[in-house]
Amino acid sequence: MKRAMYFLDQKDMPTKWYNILPDLPEPLPDALHPGTGNPLTPPDLAPLFPMALIMQEYSPERYIEIPDEVQEIYHTFRPSILHRAYRLEKALDTSAKIYYKYEGTSQAGSHKLNTAVAQAYYNKKEGIKRISTETGAGQWGSAIAMGCKFFDLECKVYMVKISYNQKPYRRILMETWGATCVPSPSPDTKAGRDMLAKDPNCNGSLGLAISEAVEDAVSRDDTHYSLGSVLNHVLLHQTIIGEEARLQMEKADDYPDILIGCVGGGSNFGGMVLPWLRDKISGAKPKMRVIAVEPQASPSLTKGPYTYDFGDVAGLTPLLKMYTLGHDFMPAPVHAGGLRYHGMSPIVSHLCKLGLIEAQAVPQVATFEAGVQFARTEGIVSAPEANHAIRVTIDEALKCRETGEAKTILMCHSGHGNFDLTAYDEYLSGRLQDYTFSDTEMKKALDNLPKVPGK
Ligand SMILES: *Cc1c(COP(=O)(O)O)cnc(C)c1O
Repeated sequence: MKRAMYFLDQKDMPTKWYNILPDLPEPLPDALHPGTGNPLTPPDLAPLFPMALIMQEYSPERYIEIPDEVQEIYHTFRPSILHRAYRLEKALDTSAKIYYKYEGTSQAGSHKLNTAVAQAYYNKKEGIKRISTETGAGQWGSAIAMGCKFFDLECKVYMVKISYNQKPYRRILMETWGATCVPSPSPDTKAGRDMLAKDPNCNGSLGLAISEAVEDAVSRDDTHYSLGSVLNHVLLHQTIIGEEARLQMEKADDYPDILIGCVGGGSNFGGMVLPWLRDKISGAKPKMRVIAVEPQASPSLTKGPYTYDFGDVAGLTPLLKMYTLGHDFMPAPVHAGGLRYHGMSPIVSHLCKLGLIEAQAVPQVATFEAGVQFARTEGIVSAPEANHAIRVTIDEALKCRETGEAKTILMCHSGHGNFDLTAYDEYLSGRLQDYTFSDTEMKKALDNLPKVPGK
């Protein structure tokens, strides 16, 4: 009998997160203070984050112990299963072996709970009472709403307005877990009010929602801000995915030639690939390919310059060196809300610059075509974000069919699409359209990049 699922016993689960910082062949460029342009120091971040997370942001330690309280909650939804996609392989008539690690079985439906639980824990431990945050499609909002509830924290979520209107079920989920959720731009903050004055019909963007959540956090002593992607500590918490996958691939007696994940801010991708990349960096697996997949409508890695930019629209966050479309980028309304971010994690950006990973941008309709093929073979209806990874996984498997190579592909499957059925309906009825990112948009986006002296 062929084995289609690889499990792990909870007693064998990794108890440490993997930190790639000390293993990078060149150090990560400094984050800069938005006011002075000087390298950011831990106290600069103290109004926003608990010190434990700030220290993780800079940590020189290769492994960081997962606190017992966090492990206990991980044990309610992890280890996630590693699947072998036999039925998809057969449908593609490919010689490739396709594995995917499915993060959609967490209670919140995506990988985001991995960091939400950790962030809520460290905030609680430092006496914080309330968390403010933003959410795009609502996956992060639901994850942090649940994380906060488990640690008895209040939670206020600024949700990008287009998703708030398109995806009411995510809002209801957040409210069920006890969070307060408002559409962004909202009248609750200056950043929101300014935008509403400029454009009352503004659809919102992740960058703008971040401005609102950051402003909320810095204006109250009992509140910290929480970010669901991009930052080093978020990628760190997500490495539980790749660390588990390594143990499961050992059970399968296999090793990936190609790793694939979708990228919005880079956290599920980073979480899967960082624990494997150390073998590429060390020279043990020089030929391993690592592919980040983004939407053509929001192509930071494939089209953006690698430069310092703000993480948000209002320019409140530190300056991060990253591939960016400009902090005031307003993305087209594609369904993969979690991938509509202007920037990219500094770690993922740095790896791309160093040539350790590659990037591809794919158009929306083709991602749904792949997602439907995946649903019809593997059974899982995937999040529109995950469909991006599935698209490129299928493309690589089809290349193997041409060449006859039996490559091993390992994909991070970031979450289910149970709340994205309207998008599937649009695809199935032929109404879904592609958006490409024009050169005019690119120029406009880049006109407002911050000028950083000497950088
Ligand atoms: C948020 C999200 C993403 C994108 O965020 P990353 O930080 O790039 O992982 C991808 N897939 C799903 C299901 C998400 O919820």
